[in-house]
Amino acid sequence: MIHSPQQKRAFITGITGQDGSYLAELLLSKGYLVYGLVRRVAFEDEAHRMPRIAHLLDRIELIPGSLESFPSLYGAIRKTQPDEVYHLAAQSYVSTSFDDEFSTLNANINGTHNMLAACRDLAPQARFYFAATSEMFGRPTQVPQDESTPFLPSSAYGISKVAGFHLTKNYRETYGIFACSGILYNHESPRRGFEFVTRKITSHAAMIKHGVKKQLELGNLDARRDWGHAREYMEAVWAMLQQKQPKDYVICTGRLHSVREFCRTAFERLGLDYREHVVSSDKFFRTDPEQLVGNPALATKDLGWHSRVSFQDLVYEMVDHDLAYYKAK
Ligand code: NAP
Repeated sequence: MIHSPQQKRAFITGITGQDGSYLAELLLSKGYLVYGLVRRVAFEDEAHRMPRIAHLLDRIELIPGSLESFPSLYGAIRKTQPDEVYHLAAQSYVSTSFDDEFSTLNANINGTHNMLAACRDLAPQARFYFAATSEMFGRPTQVPQDESTPFLPSSAYGISKVAGFHLTKNYRETYGIFACSGILYNHESPRRGFEFVTRKITSHAAMIKHGVKKQLELGNLDARRDWGHAREYMEAVWAMLQQKQPKDYVICTGRLHSVREFCRTAFERLGLDYREHVVSSDKFFRTDPEQLVGNPALATKDLGWHSRVSFQDLVYEMVDHDLAYYKAK
């Protein structure tokens, strides 16, 4: 990559994921030199292994490594000498964290520790972002939640993120690193993984429309979430690292919608009635928190950020994408 000395350098872990791909686009549009960490296996067939960043591959540099390997992260920070580090990589699926607590805790806690320690040694001036989550609130005692709400995580995923949050805070307070966490509520997009409920709904709605599936089995249709759009959440993430002081922020829409509303909106977009296709099955039930909804006031005040994409526009964008995706298959 050709670069000028004035160009800011950003290093993103998790660049192949939903958020990493939008963040890479945002940083490129702002003139950054963008480096991304990818697992070695990802080099086998770039276009297929990395569909979310296939269109960016000639404008970014990929560095092989993994969260579990301190030497690989150390080498990546030494090589890239970043001004800003966005640590997004994680085992990010809550349900998987029940099936495999060990690799979730290992990748998410040690991975964050490895990243922070490498930055402290090699790039202490770099600004560091940690991808925290509303799942840290677990079953919250306060509604809506904000930056002062106590953490009560109820999954290995939530526990791993609380540990990452405290490690990040500790490096800020002990070593003076500009390190902060974004406590992001669920954010979706056409790039969301297929195992997540929103993408499961939009992909199945599209397949049903094309006649290749008939039914969709889900858990509790009355579970509610504060859902936003990943693209605009990455704007808030970038803004956090541009502040004078490092601070942790809740990023959310402040509005709750049910899985049922998501289904209704998605199927209606395709001229279908979700009640004819969606069934609620006990086997997918999990004890969901009733009121996991955030208060974005601090982000609005300090970052000038608020969510602009409506719930309906988010669902429509995902459905339209999946309709075209399955048509092309
Ligand atoms: P995602 O689509 O699942 O992407 C996860 C990324 O992490 C992928 O690039 C994946 O690489 C990488 N990764 C996983 N394990 C790794 C390992 N051991 N070593 C190196 N890379 C590894 O997740 P996302 O939705 O973009 O979320 C980004 C971050 O925000 C995550 O930390 C997530 O926990 C957090 N978060 C997400 C949400 C949300 O609603 N999306 C809400 C709050 C917080 P591969 O492509 O090789 O698998």
